[in-house]
Amino acid sequence: MGTVTTVLGEVDGAQLGRVMPHEHLLSLLPGRWLSGGAQDDAIEVAVRAVSALRDRGFGTVVDLSPYGVVGRDEAGANAAALAEISHRSGLHIVSGTAVYLESYAPAWARAASVSELAARLVSDAGEGIGSSGVRAGVFGEQATSLGEITAFEERMLRAAARAQRETGLSIMTHTTHGTMAQEQLDVLLGEGADPAGIVIGHVDTQLHLDAARRILDRGAGIAIDTIGKQTWDFFLGPEPARRADGEFAKRSFFRADEGRADMVATLVAEGYGDRILLAQDLTGAELWMNPGTHGAWGYAYLDEVFLPMLAERGVSAEAVDRLCRTNPARVLEGIR
Ligand SMILES: [Zn+2]
Repeated sequence: MGTVTTVLGEVDGAQLGRVMPHEHLLSLLPGRWLSGGAQDDAIEVAVRAVSALRDRGFGTVVDLSPYGVVGRDEAGANAAALAEISHRSGLHIVSGTAVYLESYAPAWARAASVSELAARLVSDAGEGIGSSGVRAGVFGEQATSLGEITAFEERMLRAAARAQRETGLSIMTHTTHGTMAQEQLDVLLGEGADPAGIVIGHVDTQLHLDAARRILDRGAGIAIDTIGKQTWDFFLGPEPARRADGEFAKRSFFRADEGRADMVATLVAEGYGDRILLAQDLTGAELWMNPGTHGAWGYAYLDEVFLPMLAERGVSAEAVDRLCRTNPARVLEGIR
């Protein structure tokens, strides 16, 4: 196996243990309220939260937080906190680097050209993210909007593809509610990215088997990465600074984890089991909508509740080992 770039340095891919490949460790609380605003509190909470993984054979968490969202600051300096969480928890942590939806993107990113954005990603992988000294080990979660790829989001995808060609690191994406997966691949492959180093994310927010197969048949991987997030609100942009007083319309939907388990079991039976990743994408801001899954179990949910659902559907222990260990390790080793 090859090497993986963790926040504390290079690690052999065979040493990762089970991997949770799409998480946001500095966003486990909806704010810094417990300690009166100290960042240290987020580190404290993350160390406690990931202990549920260590006890269940997981050795690695991938933090896919883009600049300016889900706990990562706009300049990336606080990626350094991931190194502290890794030290204190004893788990390997791999940091992603990316820019999220255009509506959330920092001004510096929106003003940059494709080649400037690619240079930034390459520097994040080689020198470190912002001033953190922490090197990125994967590009993601690189995002596109609901039903469209904005001009900025296309520039970022092209930048990620170019950065992959230069560094060999894999690209992991965010699709908004499962839309634009094929179009993401069109842009990435058109820019010369290797599909073996691409994972299309949030494919389980739609549960369309054919959509998943179409991605897999082009040589890319898919992530069933919102396990435990059954109730959803549509968050398509940042909270407005001032919302008009009174009622407002809201769209929500439900995706049962049984449906996710059915999808994984079917795809594994069809022979796609070596290109599927499993994760929870647990965040504090959304946790209130799923108190019985993420709220009750935290990071233990995948192992305690979801993996038994796979076993009930005939997915072998060997296949589960590939889903949780071999597949993410190969993605993190990249195409070097
Ligand atoms: Zn996402």
